[in-house]
Amino acid sequence: MGHHQPSIDTSPKVSDEIRKTTCYMCACRCGINVHMKDGKVAYIEGNRDHPVNKGVLCAKGSAGIMQVNAPSRLRKPLKRVGPRGSGQFEEISWDEAYDIAEGWLRPLRETAPEKLAFFTGRDQSQSFTSLFAQSFGTPNYAAHGGFCSVNMAAAGIYTMGGAFWEFGQPDWDHTKLFVLFGVAEDHDSNPIKMGIGKVKGRGDKVIGVNPIRTGYNAVADDWYGITPGTDGLLILSLIHCLMSAGKIDLDYLAQFTNAPCLVNADESSPEYGLLIKDADGRPQVIDARTGALAPWDGEGVEPDLSATYERDGITHLPVLHHMAERYLDPQYAPEAVAGRTGISADRIRQLAGEIAKTAFESPIVVDQPWTDFRGKTHPNMVGRPVSFHAMRGISAHSNGFQTCRALHVLQIILGAVETPGGMRFKPPYPKPATAHPKPHCKVTPGAPLDGPHLGFVHGPDDLCLREDGSPARIDKAFTWENPMSSHGMMHMVISNAHAGDPYKIDTLFLYMANMSWNSSMNTSGTMKMLTDKDENGDYVIPHIIYSDAYSSEMVAYADLILPDTTYLERHDCISLLDRPICEADAVADAIRWPVIEPDRDVKGFQSALCDLGARLGLPAFTNEDGSQKYADYADYITNHIRRPGVGPLAGWRGAAGDSDGRGDVNPNQLDRYIENGGFWMEHVPDNAAYYKPFNRAYQDWAVEMGFYDSVKPYIFQLYVEPMRRFQLAAEGHGERQPPEHLRDQIKERLDPLPIWYAPVEDSHVDTDTFTIHALTQRPMAMYHSWGSQNAWLRQIHGRNPLYVPSKIWKEHGFTEGDWARVSSAHGEITVPVMEMAALNDNTVWTWNAIGKRKGAWALKGDTPEATKGFLLNHLIHELLPSRKDGMRWSNSDPITGQAAWFDLRVKIEKAVAPEATKPHHPEIPSPVPSAPDSLDWKVGK
Ligand code: SF4
Repeated sequence: MGHHQPSIDTSPKVSDEIRKTTCYMCACRCGINVHMKDGKVAYIEGNRDHPVNKGVLCAKGSAGIMQVNAPSRLRKPLKRVGPRGSGQFEEISWDEAYDIAEGWLRPLRETAPEKLAFFTGRDQSQSFTSLFAQSFGTPNYAAHGGFCSVNMAAAGIYTMGGAFWEFGQPDWDHTKLFVLFGVAEDHDSNPIKMGIGKVKGRGDKVIGVNPIRTGYNAVADDWYGITPGTDGLLILSLIHCLMSAGKIDLDYLAQFTNAPCLVNADESSPEYGLLIKDADGRPQVIDARTGALAPWDGEGVEPDLSATYERDGITHLPVLHHMAERYLDPQYAPEAVAGRTGISADRIRQLAGEIAKTAFESPIVVDQPWTDFRGKTHPNMVGRPVSFHAMRGISAHSNGFQTCRALHVLQIILGAVETPGGMRFKPPYPKPATAHPKPHCKVTPGAPLDGPHLGFVHGPDDLCLREDGSPARIDKAFTWENPMSSHGMMHMVISNAHAGDPYKIDTLFLYMANMSWNSSMNTSGTMKMLTDKDENGDYVIPHIIYSDAYSSEMVAYADLILPDTTYLERHDCISLLDRPICEADAVADAIRWPVIEPDRDVKGFQSALCDLGARLGLPAFTNEDGSQKYADYADYITNHIRRPGVGPLAGWRGAAGDSDGRGDVNPNQLDRYIENGGFWMEHVPDNAAYYKPFNRAYQDWAVEMGFYDSVKPYIFQLYVEPMRRFQLAAEGHGERQPPEHLRDQIKERLDPLPIWYAPVEDSHVDTDTFTIHALTQRPMAMYHSWGSQNAWLRQIHGRNPLYVPSKIWKEHGFTEGDWARVSSAHGEITVPVMEMAALNDNTVWTWNAIGKRKGAWALKGDTPEATKGFLLNHLIHELLPSRKDGMRWSNSDPITGQAAWFDLRVKIEKAVAPEATKPHHPEIPSPVPSAPDSLDWKVGK
């Protein structure tokens, strides 16, 4: 008898067409295939050919459909008609919106450009938005780095020319031990998941160091539940153990770091602590071949790590000597730091032992000759297969810069940076601080600023101060308070503008930054500052322009709304001029393009700036005859030239589209990207794959590609001399002097070798009352508030309890369903609690940005995000409580100004459950219709 199989179509056609672009549901920039049916988005999958995600797609990425269809999308430009904060708007045309903006901005440009403060959030077009601000002439521009992870980025650049994520990644194919410090599931999302999969798939080891064991830490083979703010102490203890045991790579340190560079060791000298240099400014080492002084990069020089040098009665000692003196000190012994870190001495020694064993007993050798910058040819590439990754968890503390420096130094002493199995940079990185611009702040009415806003200072002369010594920038970045604030300090803009300190501004212009809610410390206070009026009844901050694609909490606090598109409706470039999508083995950049057309009267923000820049006559946005230079952002991406032959996109340059890296404009460049899946990629040559800063082949290739215009080899800076220059000023040397009240802080904190000090909040609050640390983390399924308005993702995290460790849970007699009142020195919240065992004994935490203001995001008033969700931000203030001297210090890192979100200390008490989480903020009328009950999305049959 015949057997008939039913015919089943196991791969039904889901789409008529696939359009390939770049995801923007978080900042990882994965490649996506957008399946279209009947002209609508039917399905999103990962692009298997894409260098970032190789086909992997996360929950956020696939939920992009609901972001594109979200009821909270803004529909038209809006003009405020009720009081600020009331949410009362009227829809206007783009012409009227531009007229209003021009009416406010034109007089500022002609008389006082600094009265415009232009700040952007998680913007991926900073080389473009900064061009607008620079051309306008205001010094007041930055993106969100100051309240995110500038400590990690700046510490990396100053120490070794780059940090993690967009700058570098573990050598996933070779690493045998991968250690994560302070990483939640947010940044570098898919790449880390794929990397951990590779490491664990080979049977190699992953270790997590984090107060909270979720996400990556939950799948780690071992977990260290450290006390918040003490990572630096643990890392310095690991350095102590490794140096004591002689488990450091002396050969690597001698050749590729400033460990052999000679430092003035005479405390009475005005040059104490500075490197000895030749007439060309090159740091000097002792050449082991001759025993004489030689420049660090001299042909054939063999730097001696142990030699000392006397000149004019002054002794000069190598950096390594100073490091040994510092880190062999018993204060860093595991026994000395165990109590403070919450990690036992045995466990610290165990971690140091695992790192040393893996690094020095299983070296990786890649059979590839290469030639270094001194002309020495090495027969192969030898690496130490230990790699690290760290992010906001260790950097968002007031000791974060030095902690991040310590981690970079730890990697370097192992010889595990830019070597097989270790950490590898992604082109166009590495790039040392000296290859970046310095900050510029010179204002000339009616003219552009004198140079780029943000950059890297090398001493007091580079600070952004006015002639009277007052801060040149509204956020007080690059001042004595926070001299090395390389990404600006967006979190201080509203409070400084409100206080008129250092001066009053006229217009606050913000892009995709939810500053009246989850992006600000002191959320309630920020709303008040945005709505406060002066004695004349005028708003203290006279004008606020805001651009966002969605009806976020910030919308109600603006006077003029420029509605942005969603990420599938716009052009974007993820450019080598910003932070591109490169891999360690390849340089790559990418685009977004409108795979669907907006069904609303909205405009990509960058295109709106092209229009506005032309109306204002900004030189970068107008032709010589005064006409508009760029019709829109796509036109800018194609035709803008930043340096000869270098534009926003590096692929398919030249009229015929046959040049990579450098070349003339190609009018069809965007089409070529679209044909190629939305990205361009060029592989690093094999002999340039490792040792990038020191490797002649890499340096030559980097110039050819247009990363820089001449070769720039350099060595890693274990000792960061610019920091010593600030200390010298604080000790009384030099013309530019800090104010008296900051001298001690500068002397103590700006140590050129990494140190650890207790989080600054600890010395401003009563730690006997506020005994508990409090943190937030982003979950895998959300990226800030972007995801928590998404109909699919809300079903994963629609509310957020405060997680309490078992020890505190029992001490307070909490049971399931309980609520707690949590207070800090600044504020109080009442929230639901939940027990969690895999948590540091003295830490509570919750997911970030789940809590929503009633009426925002087109969510209904009784939505769980507003009644059971909450923000920890209400407990944090941008200023610390005053001490005896009556002064209020900024709640930030005294070196970079990074917002110290994670220094927060609280106390917790059981509370009667209220109807909804507290504090309560009244519902804001929504400028868009609220969401229907059901958001079914089905395209086609
Ligand atoms: S990791 Fe980020 S960029 Fe990648 S698919 Fe997920 S949301 Fe998109």
